[in-house]
Amino acid sequence: MSLSLTHEILVLVECNAECELTPASLAAVSFARRISQIKSCKYSLLLLYRLPNTPQTTLFHLGASEVLVCATELDRPFLAERITPTLARIVKERNAELFVTAATSTGKDLAPRIAALLDAAYISDCSKVSIENGVIAFHRPVYAGNAMAVCHARSSRVIVTVRQTEFPLATADIAEKSKLTFFTLDQESVEVSRVRRIGFDAVTTNRPRLTEAKVVVTGGRALSNRFNEVLSPLADCLNAAIGATRAACDAGIAPSDFQVGQTGKVVAPDLYFAIGVSGAVQHVAGMRGSRVIVAINSDPEAPIFSIADYGLIGDLFDIVPKLVAAIRTTKGI
Ligand SMILES: Cc1cc2nc3c(=O)[nH]c(=O)nc-3n(C[C@H](O)[C@H](O)[C@H](O)COP(=O)(O)OP(=O)(O)OC[C@H]3O[C@@H](n4cnc5c(N)ncnc54)[C@H](O)[C@@H]3O)c2cc1C
Repeated sequence: MSLSLTHEILVLVECNAECELTPASLAAVSFARRISQIKSCKYSLLLLYRLPNTPQTTLFHLGASEVLVCATELDRPFLAERITPTLARIVKERNAELFVTAATSTGKDLAPRIAALLDAAYISDCSKVSIENGVIAFHRPVYAGNAMAVCHARSSRVIVTVRQTEFPLATADIAEKSKLTFFTLDQESVEVSRVRRIGFDAVTTNRPRLTEAKVVVTGGRALSNRFNEVLSPLADCLNAAIGATRAACDAGIAPSDFQVGQTGKVVAPDLYFAIGVSGAVQHVAGMRGSRVIVAINSDPEAPIFSIADYGLIGDLFDIVPKLVAAIRTTKGI
């Protein structure tokens, strides 16, 4: 048995709180578009929240044959346990052979559940797709990004999560408008769910989102209780997002949703500062795609220097304030 793709690809797209399609979703659409071009099959989009107010033009001109929108009001973030049975039913009813979602926390929460319900193959973190002897090959990083696995699915249905940093953002350049269809959540699965929402502690910030920022300033354990005091001025003058190593998060000096790496977020900004970061493979797995990497570390042997484009050897508590002062002078701020 193998993936034949005679029916369709279904792509789950997400909107942010401002009802704009997320860049991660646009990367997932671009992945689907590439496969649909190779295999000459159609793709449709599935949106879990009500229709976005403004970017309808984007949503309906991405080349999808149909846009399916959930008409049931959902809490943000929703509970995957309540939604998965409906999504699995839709995939089955439409005979969709490929279900695609970005490898976001939502995507990673839903995709394996859908695969389990449908007894489908599951391929996570896909970062490249190719055709080998007429068969679709999904490429995904393994061993913290030190090797690439090339996966051929031995299943007629495949559920895939896509690394947003590895695909271009799909553009709304298709003149023909997609058909709009609404669906509702299966009441049965909503009632049967044994999971209940107790609350949600959202971290609010005025900075760009870590996975979407053009500049990321990441700090390691070395910053200790001066994490914010040292990094915030640098992030402010570069309009950067702030990231952290797992050691910094585990030590409680940075919130967990700052974590970059294998078990954190994957980022690929234009400019990445690694400040007091050793450069462990698990950290590098989440930022090696950055265009320019600047490392500041007191240890000349720190592994981060082997992947850095620019390295400053010295005490970060001395270097970072000087860097901030120099940037402010240059920018006149
Ligand atoms: C399964 C698994 C998954 C993991 N996932 C992740 C992940 O997603 N993300 C992640 O980051 N880690 C992850 N880790 C942890 C990872 O292995 C490292 O332990 C971690 O990245 C180290 O963080 P650090 O660089 O802040 O700390 P350290 O390793 O303690 O390094 C601190 C660095 O700061 C430098 N330094 C100290 N003082 C100064 C100073 N004054 N000025 C300048 N430099 C200074 C030191 O020279 C050193 O290089 C994972 C580990 C495992 C086993």
